Amino acid sequence: MTDANPTPVSPGTTVSRALAQAIPKVSLHCHLLGSVPAATTVELARRAGVRIPGDPDAESVYDSAAYADLGQFLSVYDLVGASLISRDDVRRVTYESLTCFGSDHSVWYREIFVTPQPSPLPYPQFLSGVLDGMRDARSDTGIESRIVMAINREHSVAEAVEFVQQVIDHRVDEVIGIGLDYEEVNGPPAPFAPAYALARRGGLHRTAHSESGPPSAIEVILDELRCSRIDHGYHVVTDERITRRCVQERIPFTATPVSSDIGRYSGSGDGSHRRIREMVDAGLQVCIDSDDPPMFGTDPTNDFHAVGNALGYGLDTLTTFTRNAIDACWLDESDKQSLRGRLDAWAGEHRDAIPEETP
Ligand SMILES: [Zn+2]
Repeated sequence: MTDANPTPVSPGTTVSRALAQAIPKVSLHCHLLGSVPAATTVELARRAGVRIPGDPDAESVYDSAAYADLGQFLSVYDLVGASLISRDDVRRVTYESLTCFGSDHSVWYREIFVTPQPSPLPYPQFLSGVLDGMRDARSDTGIESRIVMAINREHSVAEAVEFVQQVIDHRVDEVIGIGLDYEEVNGPPAPFAPAYALARRGGLHRTAHSESGPPSAIEVILDELRCSRIDHGYHVVTDERITRRCVQERIPFTATPVSSDIGRYSGSGDGSHRRIREMVDAGLQVCIDSDDPPMFGTDPTNDFHAVGNALGYGLDTLTTFTRNAIDACWLDESDKQSLRGRLDAWAGEHRDAIPEETP
């Protein structure tokens, strides 16, 4: 049994960057195309002949302040994908995602969202590149990972069904589920039920993004898409009944404090992360991750640091976010038990070495 309700420590408690970096993490909400280091994006785009508007350098290619809306952010995201024109390009970005924005920040395990669609590579070749990068990252750093293939909800349902069929036809053990990405306002969840039913019949786990709502979208995702977790989902707290249901059913929510603060979904864009606190206080099973880290000027350490300091959470609470993610991940129960054991051992070792800090 694990504690689903992190216990807030006294307001004003601060979490050091060193502590935020050291805390073991299980990453359930990070996108491959959103976690390519800036210098790599610029290099690969130039090599592939993909023009990024403004011809930015590595310092300016991910200027999150310049994203007028989610659509503009996603157009940069697509250009990153279009720049992956060989299996080795995909291997490289997968490796860098899992190390620079993973193992370097004590991420032990990641279920990474993969959207091959913007790349010109055939699906099997793209998948092989991801598997190469996962293997190399694991052998160099120990990070374990699995793949969640993500549907582009701005494209047609027919395309989504075709994509899921392709995922099933080329199934490997590392591909464990599907997700629903891109703008919710341009692709509400309900029409994608046939693609999700196909995934379910194919033995794939299921999750979906719901960032802008309305709260009823959460129930569509649970009941019609038959998902076992929700990505973002901050608007759940605006509906008491649905919140109660999600608490009772222990539905995991994969929150991403920094990217959602910039998008004004988890608070007011002022770093308060108000809705994440409301979710935790309501007893929801919240996990913390960093979404598209370099594109929003963040990384897994920074997200734990930001949410810890904004909401007054200390070591116990931050490790509970990781316990929640272990419960929510799609590994076998024996693998989850092994992660829980490692986390308990880490917490025992570090309780005195890294005490709760006080102002
Ligand atoms: Zn996301």
